[in-house]
Amino acid sequence: ELPPIDGDFYNISHTLTPDERALQLRVRAFMEEEVKPIANDYWLKGEFPHHLIPKVAELDICGMTYAGFSDPVRSCLIEGVLAIEMARIDASFATFFGVQSGLVMGSVHLLGSEEQKREWLPALKSMRKIGAFGLTEPEVGSAVAGGLTMKAKRNGNTWTLNGKKKWIGNATFADVIIIWAEDEDDRQIKGFLVRKENPGLQVAKMEDKMALRIVQNGLVTLTACVVEEADRLQKANSFKDTADVLRITRAGVAWLAVGCARGAYEAALKYTRERMQFGKPIASFQLIQNHLVEMLTNLTAMQTMVARLSELQDQKELTDEHASLAKVFCSLRTRDIVSKAREVMGGNGILLEYDVARFVADAEAIYSYEGTKEINTLIVGRAITGYSAFV
Ligand code: FAD
Repeated sequence: ELPPIDGDFYNISHTLTPDERALQLRVRAFMEEEVKPIANDYWLKGEFPHHLIPKVAELDICGMTYAGFSDPVRSCLIEGVLAIEMARIDASFATFFGVQSGLVMGSVHLLGSEEQKREWLPALKSMRKIGAFGLTEPEVGSAVAGGLTMKAKRNGNTWTLNGKKKWIGNATFADVIIIWAEDEDDRQIKGFLVRKENPGLQVAKMEDKMALRIVQNGLVTLTACVVEEADRLQKANSFKDTADVLRITRAGVAWLAVGCARGAYEAALKYTRERMQFGKPIASFQLIQNHLVEMLTNLTAMQTMVARLSELQDQKELTDEHASLAKVFCSLRTRDIVSKAREVMGGNGILLEYDVARFVADAEAIYSYEGTKEINTLIVGRAITGYSAFV
């Protein structure tokens, strides 16, 4: 009898309440039964499985940590554990969810007026409405804090927006896209809830990605797009406010990276116990065990790190540099783990059907989004040295 395969080596799940543990297992069952069987197919086609939206909505797990909105208010730990559960099956699905629950609901929760929260949060939570978050532009990626080319001009009770956004996840089918734009008058960054019916909004699907192919990324063009002042996020007055959202979602991406690494590790461990060479399971070879233990070491360090990150978040002590450090470490180690997983599987490591190749590709996108390694490193560097090295 072989030991069970479980990448939660230090038993983070033992720190969950019975109720949280039950939720974890519900999400696990959903991912294994509904998403896993179709993930490779949808990934290859580059399509999103829209039929799953009502089923994931039934889990009722969007915006679980938002005080004054969610009932019960859940801890950041269980939210992170659920990100692992999603990403260990499919990082695209976890990313779709992260955009909806983190970037979009998080922006409205943190920066919206009471009226905006009432209009959008219940609809987004139940997934009757899907959202997208448009910050990155074709010519402005890492440097978003330094100014955007998307411009917003106020005329009385309306604003006119002009410009482009690139890479916007969920944008091709979103009911609302949060567009970040520079106010032409005070030069500050403001956020706007742009509805899909708006005639000034155009979205083109970005084709031919080699990672996270299930996520529908859009190139968004706004041409004389008129938005009511009532649809401007009322508490978003400068990039500092946008950064409040990114701090939290970056922590979420660190968890998501852990899930991607864990999915690859668990698949690789299973494979090495079954694959026979020289008359023995390859898992019995010392060099293969070395790879597996190295993967598990990094995975365990990552999980321990994000568990503490969530405590900081729950205690309202999370800083930009805390989130950036975890995002850098976890996305870097994930790249390493998925490549070792692929290595111990020989040729089958590059075949989608063996469940590791998709993680190898997807780790590349996780590595770059929500701030590259360089940018998150410089955020930590600035915090510990007192010197900003950005420009
Ligand atoms: P660039 O900024 O052009 O950077 C290129 C390279 O230069 C990187 O290695 C970078 O680290 C380095 N670099 C830049 N500045 C410095 C510096 N000062 N010092 C050292 N090195 C530097 N954005 C959204 O707004 N919404 C989304 O939903 C969204 N989803 C995404 C999904 C995917 C799959 C991907 C890949 C991206 C997504 N993004 C999204 C955009 C993402 O956040 C950007 O790709 C990321 O911020 C990097 O910007 P860039 O790609 O323009 O790279």
